[in-house]
Amino acid sequence: MSANTFPAQIEPFKWAEQGFTWSGNLPLSRFARIAREAVGSIDDQLVNIDCKLSMDAYHRIVWLDGHIETKVPMECQRCLGSVEIDLVSDFHLALVDDESLIERLDEDADFIVLGESEATTKGDYDSPATANLLSLIEDELLLLLPLSPKHDACEHKHQPAIQNIAEEKRDNPFDVLASLKGKLN
Ligand SMILES: [Zn+2]
Repeated sequence: MSANTFPAQIEPFKWAEQGFTWSGNLPLSRFARIAREAVGSIDDQLVNIDCKLSMDAYHRIVWLDGHIETKVPMECQRCLGSVEIDLVSDFHLALVDDESLIERLDEDADFIVLGESEATTKGDYDSPATANLLSLIEDELLLLLPLSPKHDACEHKHQPAIQNIAEEKRDNPFDVLASLKGKLN
């Protein structure tokens, strides 16, 4: 594998021991769930990614640390023009293969239990635990997407109909995501 090929599928425990790191950029179009929220062409948009895996062997926890950065053109909810939304995230995410291990994490730690998210599978003796790194990163980006993107200052050209407001409330794709990504409290 060339040094700069992005590995969509990772084996967190094995790769953490090997000190996996990756830096580079990917086209925004590879992040289908983000691309769906974009307006206009995103052909030239890139997502800058720095990430690494490290192992806390004693606690049986793999840490996925990363910095991601991109811009997504979205529809301004005030003027209906295109507004470029900056998405920047530094994440520190624990990957555990057993729910009981989350007790060992700090209270405010973000974690993923392998096998409970669509992006991950839990391993057994025959098949190692794997995670889809692209999906994990996309989850982080999705959490940053504003529900109601707007320019900082622009002309109001559009009175939202009551129907639209109701729709915005119902159609919240982030609820599911938030429930997958746990937070201890
Ligand atoms: Zn606007």
